[in-house]
Amino acid sequence: MFRKGQGEDMEKKNLDWANIGFNYIETDERYVSNYKDGAWDEGVMTKDPMVAINECAGVLQYAQTVFEGMKAYTTEDGRTVTFRPDLNAARMADSARRLEMPVFPEDRFIDAVIKTVAANRAYVPPFGSGATLYIRPYMFGSNSVIGVKPSDEYQFRVFVTPVGPYFKGGVKPLTICISDFDRAAPRGTGHIKAGLNYAMSLHAIQTAHRNGFDENMYLDAATRTKVEETGGANFLFVTKDNKVVTPKSDSILPSITRRSLMHVAKEYLGLEVEEREVLFEEVKDFAECGLCGTAAVISPVGKIVDHGREICLPSGMDGMGAVTQKLYDTLTGIQMGRIEAPEGWIVEIS
Ligand SMILES: *Cc1c(COP(=O)(O)O)cnc(C)c1O
Repeated sequence: MFRKGQGEDMEKKNLDWANIGFNYIETDERYVSNYKDGAWDEGVMTKDPMVAINECAGVLQYAQTVFEGMKAYTTEDGRTVTFRPDLNAARMADSARRLEMPVFPEDRFIDAVIKTVAANRAYVPPFGSGATLYIRPYMFGSNSVIGVKPSDEYQFRVFVTPVGPYFKGGVKPLTICISDFDRAAPRGTGHIKAGLNYAMSLHAIQTAHRNGFDENMYLDAATRTKVEETGGANFLFVTKDNKVVTPKSDSILPSITRRSLMHVAKEYLGLEVEEREVLFEEVKDFAECGLCGTAAVISPVGKIVDHGREICLPSGMDGMGAVTQKLYDTLTGIQMGRIEAPEGWIVEIS
């Protein structure tokens, strides 16, 4: 049974929470703010899910758009919370600067996220359902630009959509392949959350799927000897002596989940942690491997295939390795309010 907590008197939508999957479901309200003549307007909540922009808008012609992904949860005691929104705000500011877009002020970003979740509280899945509310802040160049240059006008929006449990029907370790494509150039845009990084990853992921793999492992574009990340998640490895290792590179997107897990490993589980270059040649010696991101927290990897050469992780194909499981349980425990969070990690939406 789902427990009702304080502030949870309102009716939840009658959705089949366990089976909604990861699809866009239109909710009641979204936040919109426009940038014009050098300033952001005060922003409003609107019921209109449609965006009307000129056919020559900068986002449509030159992909001037950045986004964020985060979640709201119902805790065990019935509070609605979000996780480290200050880091999403800061990362979106970095992404915007890299694409010559005006920064949406970080405090206003957090405020817009809170307002949007609060306005759609009926869509925040109940505790215990395994489902969560996915939050998508984003911004794009909205006025017409035909010569290649930054837009003068922008729109910042936040919408939310409930998403089902990631590990529906149990945890199944992934089989991934070394991609023949590169994700990010050295000194390119791999470290920012921009639509352009995803547009060019679609062919690579479809190719991996056609070849029977769940995901791509991208290597560094310059030498193709070092592990970078997948299309949308950072790697964590566990050594045979229980050290937690994550690749360091300027072209990796700094995952908030990965940074949080490294903190949890060190401060909650007392494990040694290392953020350093990871050679692909070392991967065969690791005990566990996982992909970290907001969607799944950690997805275990069971097998890595490099053009026919298989690396089978000792943690196997049946579930999470022991350390991965502890990391997962501790971080989700913090997010669900079961385990005390570090200062500032949990922001309550009242
Ligand atoms: C969003 C994203 C991640 C995961 O970041 P989180 O903040 O943990 O959700 C990892 N890699 C890429 C390329 C991403 O876009």
